[in-house]
Amino acid sequence: MIIAVDGPTASGKGTIARQLAEHYGLKRLDTGSLYRAVGLAVLDAGGDPTDEAVAVAAAEALDLEHIDESRIRSSAAGMAASAVAAIPAVRAVLRNAQRAFAADPAGAVLDGRDIGTVICPDADVKLFVTASLAERTRRRLAELHARGEQIGFEELERQIAERDARDVNRKDSPLRQAEGAHLLDTTSLSIEAAAEAAFAIVDAALSSPKA
Ligand code: C5P
Repeated sequence: MIIAVDGPTASGKGTIARQLAEHYGLKRLDTGSLYRAVGLAVLDAGGDPTDEAVAVAAAEALDLEHIDESRIRSSAAGMAASAVAAIPAVRAVLRNAQRAFAADPAGAVLDGRDIGTVICPDADVKLFVTASLAERTRRRLAELHARGEQIGFEELERQIAERDARDVNRKDSPLRQAEGAHLLDTTSLSIEAAAEAAFAIVDAALSSPKA
């Protein structure tokens, strides 16, 4: 079984994807971490994340097994990620890695922006997870403050809105709700309630197979 989970940053899609993987015994790929790792590699090398040749070389050199989780969550890595993600040649390199992961017959949960539309259009179940901009900013702010990163609400809200706009408006694989995807708005849901809602969607989809 393949479950595709898409949505904007801090919508809760990562937490939901993790819980779905645990609940249904599937492996999981957080595809945003690939773009973050590529963006960070470019920054570490002193490069410009909008420079196609540099970003493609970083994507080709990416080792999925050795992504530094502790460093890719910074807001700088997030901004660099959305810049490299707008480059079609970078997406082509990472598309192959994501499809290879999804090809495992044991099944998988993948979360990102274009899983249901481009990476796994034939996924068994598709979810589109969203939440208001203010709520997503609150969640991300708490995460960044917990990491010791100092950033104010307004600056972060501006960064998230800029990243959303870049993701929604790019030509290659823009963020949008896939056909057949179930909408899950987590604005006023606890983590537990959001997970329960996701399980209910998947269970219902499994008991009424696609035509
Ligand atoms: O989900 P996360 O915020 O970690 O993703 C970082 C960035 O990577 C996003 O803003 C988006 O530009 C890009 N991304 C993407 N396609 C995916 C996953 C992430 O373009 N499937």
